[in-house]
Amino acid sequence: MTDCLFCRIAGGDLAADVAYRDDWVVAFHDINPQAPVHVLVIPVRHISSLLELQLTDEALLWRLHAAAVRLARELGIAERGFRVVINTNREAGQSVPHLHLHLLGGRPMGWPPG
Ligand code: AMP
Ligand code: ZN
Repeated sequence: MTDCLFCRIAGGDLAADVAYRDDWVVAFHDINPQAPVHVLVIPVRHISSLLELQLTDEALLWRLHAAAVRLARELGIAERGFRVVINTNREAGQSVPHLHLHLLGGRPMGWPPG
């Protein structure tokens, strides 16, 4: 989708600080980080939200999480601990309608989340 911010990043039309890329997944540092490590992991293919995910996306779901784990290790937060968050729709604060995992770490995390 040409009018989707994250599709433009995935397609290389909009610059981002890319941390990982393969044929299915792109990960880039959040422009407004909420923790010392804050990376967004997205599918290359446009999926609006978790609500749109299909059973046939099961491998993609693994790939998204595998990329997050790989980055957690590479960025040095795997052993200390990290959080993976998917905000869905308005009350959860989803502001970009293209599925994305937030990988957050590098500081203690509160619970419950705000
Ligand atoms: P959410 O609010 O869960 O939809 O998350 C969207 C995230 O995208 C927010 O944390 C924003 O800071 C981040 N964001 C928005 N535009 C960009 C951009 N151009 N590059 C990197 N991160 C972005
Ligand atoms: Zn998109």
